[in-house]
Amino acid sequence: MATITFIGLGNMGGPMASNLLKAGHEVTVFDLSDDAVRTLVGEGAKSAATATEAADSADCVITMLPAGKHVEAVYLGDNGLLASLASKTLVIDSSTIAPETARKVAEAAVEKNITFMDAPVSGGVGGAKAGTLTFICGGEKAAFDQARPILEGMGKNIFHAGPHGAGQIAKICNNMLLAILMSGTSEALALGVKNGLDPAVLSEIMKQSSGGNWALNVYNPWPGVMEAAPASRQYQGGFLVDLMNKDLGLAMDNAVQNHAAVPMGALARNLFELHASQGNGALDFSSIQRFYYQPQS
Ligand code: NAD
Repeated sequence: MATITFIGLGNMGGPMASNLLKAGHEVTVFDLSDDAVRTLVGEGAKSAATATEAADSADCVITMLPAGKHVEAVYLGDNGLLASLASKTLVIDSSTIAPETARKVAEAAVEKNITFMDAPVSGGVGGAKAGTLTFICGGEKAAFDQARPILEGMGKNIFHAGPHGAGQIAKICNNMLLAILMSGTSEALALGVKNGLDPAVLSEIMKQSSGGNWALNVYNPWPGVMEAAPASRQYQGGFLVDLMNKDLGLAMDNAVQNHAAVPMGALARNLFELHASQGNGALDFSSIQRFYYQPQS
C-alpha cells in the first residue's frame, strides 16, 4: 500500500480520496476548504496545514483541482510542490487542464527527477463515488505501470493515451462530445414534451434506439426521470456548467492551434456560455435542459 497525498477534495476529489482510504492506502489530504478536509479526516485521512506539509514523505501525490491555473500554482508557484518533493515521487494530476499546461508541469518535474503523469478522468461524480472512473493517462509507460495499481482503487478503465499531455487531449475531445450529446439529448426531450410525450417514456425509447447515449443511460437531464441524476435535485452538485465551459474553451483553443474544424463543439460552447451568462454557471451541466424548456409552474 502507498503513502498518498491528495490535494483538491471537491465534488470529484472527495470521493476519490475516500476510495483510496477504502483500498487501504495511507492518505494525507489538503484543500482550501476546511469542511472538505474534515469529511475526509472523519473517514481516516490525515490532514496538514499546507500542500507542502501534506506532501512531505509521500510516495505519490494526486491533484484534482478546478483548472490549469490552480495546478500551476500548486506545483510551480511560490512554495510549489516541485521545489520540495523527493526525487522519484510519483505525481498524478487528474484535473482537466490544457495539454500544454500538463506538458509544462511535466517538463519541470522531469528536471527534478520527479515522475509526472496527466490522468484526467471521465465518469462524473457517480463514477467517483462508485470507484468506476475512467482514467486517461499521458506520460511514460513506466509511470503508467507504476500508477495503475493506485488508479485501480478509484477507477475501472485505465487507459494510456500516449506521452505527456495526451491524456488531456483525449479528455477534451471526450468532453466536447459530451457537451454536444447533452445539448442534443435536451433538445430532443424538449421537442417530445412540447408534443405531449412523457419524458421518461421518450427517454426509454431513445435509449433503446439509435439516439441512445451516455446522457440517456446514466445522466438524464430531465428532472425526475432518473432519481440519482443531478436533474432530480435541481441540478445541484455534479459537473458544473462553469467547468464544462472551461473544457469547451480548452477544446476551442486546441482546435485553433491544430486547424481543426469543430462546428458542433463551437455551437455547444456558445450554448453553454449563454447558459452560464444567465446565472447557471454553478449548476450541473445537464441544466442545459432548462435552456430548451422551462416547465410552467
Ligand atoms: P470542485 O470545484 O468541486 O473541486 C475543486 C476543489 O479544489 C475544491 O474543493 C477547492 O477548494 C480545491 N482547491 C482549489 N484550489 C486549491 C488549492 N490551491 N489547493 C488545494 N485545494 C484547492 O471541482 P470538481 O468537480 O471536483 O472537478 C475537479 C476537476 O475534475 C476539474 O478540472 C474538472 O474539470 C474535472 N472533472 C470534473 C468532473 C465532474 O463531474 N465534476 C468530471 C470529470 C472531470
